[in-house]
Amino acid sequence: MTKRISLTAQAHSIIDKHLTTGEIAIDATTGNGHDTLYLAKQVGITGKVFGFDIQQQAIESTDSRLKSENFTNNIKLFHCSHNQIQHCIPTEFHGKIKVIMFNLGYLPGSDKSIITQTDSTLSALEQAIKLLVTSGVMTIAAYPGHSGGDTETNAIEQWHQQLDCKQYHVKTIYSSEKQTAPRLYIIQKN
Ligand code: SAM
Repeated sequence: MTKRISLTAQAHSIIDKHLTTGEIAIDATTGNGHDTLYLAKQVGITGKVFGFDIQQQAIESTDSRLKSENFTNNIKLFHCSHNQIQHCIPTEFHGKIKVIMFNLGYLPGSDKSIITQTDSTLSALEQAIKLLVTSGVMTIAAYPGHSGGDTETNAIEQWHQQLDCKQYHVKTIYSSEKQTAPRLYIIQKN
């Protein structure tokens, strides 16, 4: 039987090819900090990582994961919605961000009613894409299988389809053929 690779692992393997030491990355949904730590390791101590989450528990969990691996100095966590991304990221970094990760849905092992919401997600995506440097990459893991996630995924589907293909290269990886299967959108700025 072939082993299925998780969408997160696929996102990481794509980012591996684009993000390197000294660059700047954003985790738009830090959750338990797995992606934030991964990004921190990729950019090293000379790079920078910004993280966002609306839940205090997520920020604390991310912070302690980073501390346990001695990543702190070059990381800034914002306890706020990613729809504040343009406001929170210092203007000196606008247009210089190499990778932005969105891993939508709810915090695993926590309150499943606190989920990313269509309107704020779309607003965040609109703002985030403008922060990318040329050749920068944004990944969006979306989960249509839970209530609310279906509407959000449909909205992202429509949003990414209207992106200018001269400006952005877009690819979608589906975890299975099922309509409710999680999917990963990969957007690269040309
Ligand atoms: N990247 C995380 C990791 O590596 O553990 C997993 C993220 S989890 C699937 C989704 C997270 O999005 C939750 O922690 C949730 O609190 C957060 N979230 C929900 N709405 C948000 C918003 N408007 N802005 C930022 N984070 C949000």
